[in-house]
Parts: sequence; structure tokens; C-alpha cells
Amino acid sequence: MNKVQAYSNDFIRQIIDEDLANNRCAVIHTRFPPEPNGYLHIGHAKSICLNFGIAQDYHGHCNLRFDDTNPIKADIKYIESIKHDLQWLGFKWSGRICYSSDYFDLLYEYAFELIKKGLAYVDQLNSEQIREYRGTLISPGKNSPFRDRSIKENITLFKKMQAGDLTEGSACLRAKIDMASPFMVMRDPVLYRIKFIEHHQTGNKWCIYPMYDFAHCISDALEGITHSLCTLEFQDNRRLYDWILDNINIKCRPRQYEFSRLNLTFTIMSKRKLNMLITQNIVKGWDDPRMPTISGLRRRGYTAASIREFCRRIGMTKQNNNIEMVTLESCIRDELNKNAPRTMAVLDPIKIIIKNRASKIEYLTMPNHPNNPQMGNRQVPFDNIIYIDRADFREEAKKHYKRLVLGKEVRLRHAYVIKAEYIEKDQKGNIIIVYCSYDAQTLNKDPLDGRKVKGVIHWVAADYALPADIHLYDHLFNVANPNLVDNFITTINPKSLIIRHGFVEPNLANAIPEQTYQFEREGYFCIDSQYLLAGKYVFNRTVSLRNTWQIKDKH
Ligand code: ATP
Ligand code: MG
Repeated sequence: MNKVQAYSNDFIRQIIDEDLANNRCAVIHTRFPPEPNGYLHIGHAKSICLNFGIAQDYHGHCNLRFDDTNPIKADIKYIESIKHDLQWLGFKWSGRICYSSDYFDLLYEYAFELIKKGLAYVDQLNSEQIREYRGTLISPGKNSPFRDRSIKENITLFKKMQAGDLTEGSACLRAKIDMASPFMVMRDPVLYRIKFIEHHQTGNKWCIYPMYDFAHCISDALEGITHSLCTLEFQDNRRLYDWILDNINIKCRPRQYEFSRLNLTFTIMSKRKLNMLITQNIVKGWDDPRMPTISGLRRRGYTAASIREFCRRIGMTKQNNNIEMVTLESCIRDELNKNAPRTMAVLDPIKIIIKNRASKIEYLTMPNHPNNPQMGNRQVPFDNIIYIDRADFREEAKKHYKRLVLGKEVRLRHAYVIKAEYIEKDQKGNIIIVYCSYDAQTLNKDPLDGRKVKGVIHWVAADYALPADIHLYDHLFNVANPNLVDNFITTINPKSLIIRHGFVEPNLANAIPEQTYQFEREGYFCIDSQYLLAGKYVFNRTVSLRNTWQIKDKH
């Protein structure tokens, strides 16, 4: 992959430049530490582009480390999807794949080190009492009655925890720091808890599992991470990060830096909430094209380059903010406008019969891109029965309506001029056929007698076009910030998916997933990978031609 364009001088790169200039480190080493409890989303992409991008820019390393300290939530299918999405985004991790669980033996030893130094103790308050003793933001906590038990007793009890002699919730290991600290995380945080659960990497070897805060900093140090980059909500935890590393005997000394989490309007980023959308059947899975997941965006037609470009455009800050969804959309639109082959599709078909033309297939040559001849041409069949979009015909219309009107002419894109002569309606009054005539002299040429024909509409030949379902997507939520609403489910947009039964050019029978086309005058679309597996032609709208929030009606 080409080098990711540098995030011009963001504050993290400034820190790294200083560290290099002052010889605080020689080789930059970052890591991306996903918890395997969901699929990667666009927020993760921000962290991935930052961590892997820095490793690329500075010729350093970036590890992929699965944070699997909590065996309840982890799942092998998430591990596989994360690896796949990361590679698809265009990044490669350094060396082997790491797991926090790789260090369970060492973490256990470091826990002992703290116990032996009198810096950790086995607490036997229950979880409710622990919460009560912790105090609040405005009142200090109080010491557990077990806080001052002897080192020897702590060693015995911790071994018992590890041996499975104590029940879940009856004991935990806590750091002995300061129950009156203004930082809640420093009020004797829990380091280890008992869980009789099989772990996907370590099986039944352990019944005690380290907490994230304990495992994370030590894993960073063991891997030689120089800059541990995480989101702002871990700012306070940095104190604990430093406290643990300062109090154990470990060679490497990574530093943690925080950046703002990505929030996007009209969607959510929490994996727990995204999972709720799936379990409540609001979407069809993690890769539903409406999801902000990498797999959803891919299925919808977003490219890896457009996602990387988005991360570059939003940059890196220390203030949390809401990024507009249109920013993401404009990244893919800009790319597709340049690269997407053009084609025609009729989403809401109405039949046109050309009366003065016999039925005979005729192949018309059309450019795949109006401004890029290198993209070549294609042959599109034309015949006397075609479909146009229902919205492109009116019995009567005002002057500014530049499409087909009864008694008037319009140009068929890359084909002939037709004139609407008369119509046929069904019993309910719906127009079912528009009978037209065509001017055989107007193939890509103006009429010979100087008649002016203004409008151009798209079409497909009825007998040759491929029937396809077209999925039109809109925001998943009706409100810009669903996180602010008590029950975010109530803000789901019922029209986030609209299905049209239409027709596409026959060439699209060979469409492959991840190849996005511009359906002329309609938007950008790609074939759906999942439906294709089932032999069905479904096209997903990647993005509209323009920002529909500014231009409600494309005409
Ligand atoms: P959740 O709260 O949904 O579980 P998380 O932050 O716990 O999210 P992880 O899988 O643990 O998710 O995240 C892996 C890495 O990706 C972390 O370093 C985290 O900071 C980063 N990350 C996750 N979400 C975002 C986001 N919205 N913006 C930027 N970085 C993110
Ligand atoms: Mg997490």
C-alpha cells in the first residue's frame, strides 16, 4: 500500500518528533488493542489510521493486540473479522498477533510483585460493598477492613484465588493506592477477579482474570510499545497506567497519550448498542450496509482509501466532537466521481414502446466515464421497448421540467431523441405504457432540422435489462445524536432502507462486490456481496450523487 498521507503535524506526531529529537526512543512502536467483542467500526478506523499510520510514517512498528482480558465477551468470530477488516483497510501488523492472554503467566507474577511490596491486597468485600466504600466524586472513599492484612496472608489468599478455592465474587486483588484520591481510578482499583469461565485462548487454565487497566500497561511494556495511544475517556486511567509501571520491575517504559474519540452524526459507535440493533432485528447483522462498521461500509461500497481519507480529513484533536456524516459521504463521493464507471439503471420503471421502430437489437457504444477515455467504452443494447424512470415522464409539465412530457421530445442518454405520442393507463388511472416515436437520425446528434431538445434521461432496454432490487439507504437514526436520547432505539429511522424493484444494464450481470458504479442521475451503487452469494442481484446505494441534505430533490 502507498504510504498513508501524514496527518500534517498533529499533536501526537509532535510529541513523537520531540521524543525522537531528545533520544527518548529510537524506534517508534505503537499498538492497536481491540477488544474482540464486536466488529470494527469507523471509530476504530480512526485509531487504526493513527497507530498504523504513525508506524508507517516513522518506519516503526505497530502491533495488533487483542485485549482479551474479559473472557465473557470475547468471541473467535470477532477476532477473525477484526483481522480481515484491518488488512482490508490496507494495514499490516508487525510480527505475530498478540493477545493480552499471552501474558497471563507474567501478569500473575507482576501481581505477586505488587503483593510482596505491600502494594496490593486481597479484598473480601463483595462488589456492592466495594462500590459503597469507594466513595463518590465529592466524598472520599474509606479503607476496606481487609486492606491491611499481612503480605503473607495476601500471598496465601491470592494463590487460593488462582487455585480455584474461592468462589466468584468472594475475593479480588486490589492495588493499595489511596482511597481518598480525587481520581476514582486510583481508589484501590481491582487488579484481578475470579471468573470460572473458559477462555478462547487459554482454555480452563485460569479462573482469575486481570482487569484491563492492569493488563494493558504491562502488555504495552512487554511488547516494547513506545507510545500507547488511546481515547480521551482513559485520561484519568493514565495515572494508574503510570503507577503500575512505576511499581513493578519492568524494562520498557511506554507512555500513554489520549486523543478524541470519533463520533459521527446520525449513527452510534458503541459496540454494545450496535449489537442491540442486531439482536433486536433492526439491522441484519454487523455487516448490514447501514451499520457504521467497516464490514457494513465495505458492503455498501465504501473503499478502504475513502475511509483512510476520511480519517485524514478529520485529523487528530484533544476535544471530543461530533463529526458530520456528510464528511464521510463526501470522501467516498469524491473518489467515486473520479473512478466509478458509469452505467444506467431504472429504479422505478415505466414502459416506453417506440411505435415507429421495429423490434431489433442494436448495440450502442457508450463511454464508461465522461472525462476519462482510458476507462473505455461499453456496448449497451437498445430496442423498441425500453424502461425509463416514472419520475421522468409527465402528462403535463411546467417549462422548467426538462424530461419527457406528452407531445414533447427528450433525448435518451447516449441514444436517440424520442417524442411521447400517447399513453395507456390501467383501471386505476396509473400510466402503464407511454407510446413514443423516435428520430432515427439523432443517434448522439442534434436533430437535422435544428429542433432544440433540452432534456436527457436514462433508460434500459426492456428485453435485455437485468431485473435487480435496488436498496436505497438513509441515516439509521432520525436525530443527529442518538446517544443523547434515553432510549436510542426510539430514534431509529423507519425509512433507513427503501427497496426498489428496477432494471439495470445487462453488463451488470458481471458486477463484482466492491466495484461501485455511478447509476447515471441516480447515485453510486455496488452489488451486494451477501445477496450475490444467494444468486440475487441487489445493488446497494453507496451514496447519492450530491449531498441530499442540501438538495432534497435531484431535479
Ligand atoms: P466500546 O465502548 O464500543 O466497547 P472500545 O473503545 O472499548 O469501544 P475497543 O475494541 O476496546 O473498543 O477499542 C480498540 C481501540 O479502538 C481502542 O484503542 C479505542 O480507543 C479505539 N476506539 C474505539 N472506538 C473509537 C472511536 N469511536 N474513536 C476513536 N478510537 C476508538
Ligand atoms: Mg473496550
